[in-house]
Amino acid sequence: MTPVPRPALDTVPLYVPKPPVARADGTSHRLFLNENPYPPLPSVLAEVARAARVAHHYPEIMPGDLVAALAARLGVPESDVVTGPGSVGIYQQIAQAVLEPGDEVVYAWPSFEAYPIVARIAGARAVEVPLRDGAHDLAAMAARVTDRTRLVFLCEPNNPTGTSVRPADLEAFLAAVPSSVLVVLDEAYHEFSDSGVDGVALYRDHPNVVVLRTFSKAYGLAGLRVGYGVAHPVISAALRKCAVPCGVNGIAVRAAIASLAVEDELFARVDGIVRERDALRVALAERGVPVLPSETNFLWLPLGPRAAPVAATLEAAGLMARLYPGEGIRLTVGTPEANARVVTVLEDALVRA
Ligand code: PMP
Repeated sequence: MTPVPRPALDTVPLYVPKPPVARADGTSHRLFLNENPYPPLPSVLAEVARAARVAHHYPEIMPGDLVAALAARLGVPESDVVTGPGSVGIYQQIAQAVLEPGDEVVYAWPSFEAYPIVARIAGARAVEVPLRDGAHDLAAMAARVTDRTRLVFLCEPNNPTGTSVRPADLEAFLAAVPSSVLVVLDEAYHEFSDSGVDGVALYRDHPNVVVLRTFSKAYGLAGLRVGYGVAHPVISAALRKCAVPCGVNGIAVRAAIASLAVEDELFARVDGIVRERDALRVALAERGVPVLPSETNFLWLPLGPRAAPVAATLEAAGLMARLYPGEGIRLTVGTPEANARVVTVLEDALVRA
């Protein structure tokens, strides 16, 4: 007889959305994971090479230098900073720190697919609140909070729709939610956003807020897996207890610190991606493609039943987008060359769809 996994896992899907197929000649553009289209800067690569030379050593259990660099950068005490193997690694720490079986976890839907997975693995009940016009309905979310609610995930700006909440609406939401509920403000796309929402400023007045950010998007280090969070010291201490020891590897730590040192150059790239995003949105809208405003490095095209055939046409043209069957297409903003190809192919695809 084999050991029996926990029954809670029976309802947990495996997080492996089917990736689009790349062209054999290597000319496809990866527009399905909201990655940065540009590789690490030379100074970051040099640090990666240096760190690789001591890969026979363990990294620090908690990366003290990175925590110090982040605390200085954000103007917060080191005690409040946590790190993990990507934001998704920190979600697991959060779930272990606060969730008991039967607790409720509230989040909007559609939003980031990891939230229901984290909730269900913990044996918690996932409470999904529909978006309204592609944006968080914060009043409806507050209304779904009960005395069993322990956790709220708020994806700001939201993946896959790209929308942001208004700062005043977020303040009202935080005022309405009991302070015993942990509110995770997932700001993975913060650096691309002009919404005025800033979790690091908010958490100071709201000890129940955890802000999560990542080196995966604006800093272009998705492959190295570094995320970080800022929270009240009671919360951050609990999250550190739940961290996998040495969970952020030594190469990733040095690359993240080196990236903070060249932030100006990286943020100039972010500005370029934001300009491309806005130009791409206008170009698509002018051609009759349904597209939402975005505060991220991707665009949401609410194509409904046309999504699947349009995604197939994009894939055949070497544009690997993320299909949400029956709902829409999420399209990462790529290089100017990729974006220009998107306009041409989508215009043509929609004539035929
Ligand atoms: N949060 C959101 C909202 C995301 O969309 C993603 C990536 N798709 C992540 C977190 C994952 O971030 P990380 O690479 O830091 O785990």
